[in-house]
Amino acid sequence: MKPSDIHKEYDVIVAGGGVTGAGTFYEAVQKGYRVLLVEAKDFAWGTSSRSSKMVHGGLRYLKQGKFLLTKAAVKERERLLKQYPGLVTPLQFIMPVFDDYGPSRSSMKIGLSIYSFMAGKKQHKSYTKIEVMEKIPGIRKENLVSAVGFKDAQVDDARLVLRLIYEGCRLGGTALNYTKVTGIERDRKGYLAVVNMMDEHHLAPFEIKTKVLINATGAFAEILHPSPMKGFHIRPLRGSHLIFPETIFPLDRVLSFIHPQDLRPVFLFPWEGSVLLGTTDVDHDQDMETEPFVTMEEAHYLMEGLTHILPNLNLSLNDCISSIAGVRPVLSKKKKAASRESREHVVWKNKGLITVTGGKLTTFRMLASDALKAAKSYLPKPTNLTFGETIKEQPWDETCQDVSKSVQERISGRYGSFGYQIIRQYDKELFSPIENTKSLWAEIRYAAEHENIHHLSDLLLRRVRIGLLLPEGGKKILDRIETLCKPYLSWNNKKWDTEKKAYINLWETYYSPPEKRES
Ligand SMILES: Cc1cc2nc3c(=O)[nH]c(=O)nc-3n(C[C@H](O)[C@H](O)[C@H](O)COP(=O)(O)OP(=O)(O)OC[C@H]3O[C@@H](n4cnc5c(N)ncnc54)[C@H](O)[C@@H]3O)c2cc1C
Repeated sequence: MKPSDIHKEYDVIVAGGGVTGAGTFYEAVQKGYRVLLVEAKDFAWGTSSRSSKMVHGGLRYLKQGKFLLTKAAVKERERLLKQYPGLVTPLQFIMPVFDDYGPSRSSMKIGLSIYSFMAGKKQHKSYTKIEVMEKIPGIRKENLVSAVGFKDAQVDDARLVLRLIYEGCRLGGTALNYTKVTGIERDRKGYLAVVNMMDEHHLAPFEIKTKVLINATGAFAEILHPSPMKGFHIRPLRGSHLIFPETIFPLDRVLSFIHPQDLRPVFLFPWEGSVLLGTTDVDHDQDMETEPFVTMEEAHYLMEGLTHILPNLNLSLNDCISSIAGVRPVLSKKKKAASRESREHVVWKNKGLITVTGGKLTTFRMLASDALKAAKSYLPKPTNLTFGETIKEQPWDETCQDVSKSVQERISGRYGSFGYQIIRQYDKELFSPIENTKSLWAEIRYAAEHENIHHLSDLLLRRVRIGLLLPEGGKKILDRIETLCKPYLSWNNKKWDTEKKAYINLWETYYSPPEKRES
């Protein structure tokens, strides 16, 4: 879809192609409105591809007394597990209990009983010291008492965003990446009338009429809509992850532990055939226009926590294959310690300009629903014929039996109603994994064919995630990727060379292991 293909007027324009914007787009299209989503960079470029990938109630929010937020998030977790099997998958957690620091066994048990109660089923259990040592070999034995285990869920965050966007498009919505909202114009009564935009590739400005702009630009929200609440502003907080190969410490569950330095929870968790260690929570003072990156200070903090919990693990920053940082759109009144700031969302409304920011990946649907409720009074009656329609899943028939069940689940989870066509149409050999990751060559080809790729980084960091999972961002297989994608991306040899160089440069600057970057 190009800017030239779009209409002159929409019922709703959504600015921001992260999970909040994508969720709002999908819900608005489903309600029958004519909707346009625009994303200044690539879909999921912002925080929504840089999270800890957990679909969770958030035990620590319970500890802060945020019962309603936790309960709503637990409910959303259960709903997402049902709605997106294969994309949102159950994940076990284990949290060791020590008697010299961190929460006690009894407080953990109370918290987890409430957590299970919220889910409507018992989802936690206790482990003895011996059992913990079996499950987590090498765990710090000193003062170890026991552990608690509980269930949450995991997602490929960028793919969740993409699924919402492409299914929204299938129902009649329109979505453009690399298109930025640059301003708004109001009518004589002060109501929103026109949204100014910029096609970022051609530097071509254009404008579209609308009665509603939903500003879902996350940490950037105050650029379009300064906070109407005195002294209450977005405080961008950076959270960082280090990524290691799975072979270094194979894990089948999340190891959740308390960092000895500041008593914050930190996680070591399996994801897509690798192991992630995160996260930090620090004021983000880097340039907001460029990609955030993990600093050496953050890397040392994370490694210090890991060494404390797994003292004999022979792991150093040299083993790290990549790193990723994201910026939380946290709303703050009086600056508290970063991890004590509220993760709740806000909706601001000003004559057709609706801003929705804050919140969590898990609760995106609540944000979408609140934004659309705030927009309702400005909206005309829906005109779109798809009103109330939902995507119907194709039945998987015997032509799909050529690929394994796990591949079927992966494809149907990531691509929803488009998955069936991928499995039926592509050669079987494309369903083999890319190196030692779980990503499939078929996913690369599908993205090149259908998923608005403008840069190699769109393909390797968000459509598939191999840029994070392979050494040097997958440099070794770039030529093979070029051969596979050439028929589907209209790039000449010069563009391929430029893209490959730009990708390597971007990866080395923002995604490489912090130690290698600084040396
Ligand atoms: C390290 C970290 C870990 C996290 N882990 C979890 C977790 O495990 N589980 C969980 O539930 N939540 C988690 N979160 C929170 C969650 O990731 C965020 O709340 C969520 O991704 C925010 O989504 P968003 O769409 O509001 O913002 P974003 O994803 O940042 O999207 C905003 C988009 O707007 C675009 N944009 C900006 N300006 C414009 C403009 N003028 N015009 C058009 N587009 C524009 C940006 O390019 C960006 O892509 C985590 C956050 C961080 C930082």
